[in-house]
Amino acid sequence: MASKSCPHIKAIRSVRQPERRECEECVKIAATWVHLRTCQECGVTLCCDSSPNRHASKHASASGHPVIASAEPGERWLYCYPDAALAKY
Ligand SMILES: [Zn+2]
Ligand SMILES: [Zn+2]
Ligand SMILES: [Zn+2]
Repeated sequence: MASKSCPHIKAIRSVRQPERRECEECVKIAATWVHLRTCQECGVTLCCDSSPNRHASKHASASGHPVIASAEPGERWLYCYPDAALAKY
């Protein structure tokens, strides 16, 4: 896994953790997901790009919130969509 940072990731001082272990958008439409990601701007937890609905990616482009963190237990990394940057924390 390549590691690369960007100004958005560098600006994060404390990483937001998921409040719920579910994709808020998938729950509304009774869909399933693969992995969960937490938006570091607003704290919403949504599904990953391997999930059928890719809600985290859609949220990033619709809202302009660039950075998500993995919401999977034991995974400690941040990803910035516009910069395609991935950094461990
Ligand atoms: Zn960035
Ligand atoms: Zn979803
Ligand atoms: Zn957000």
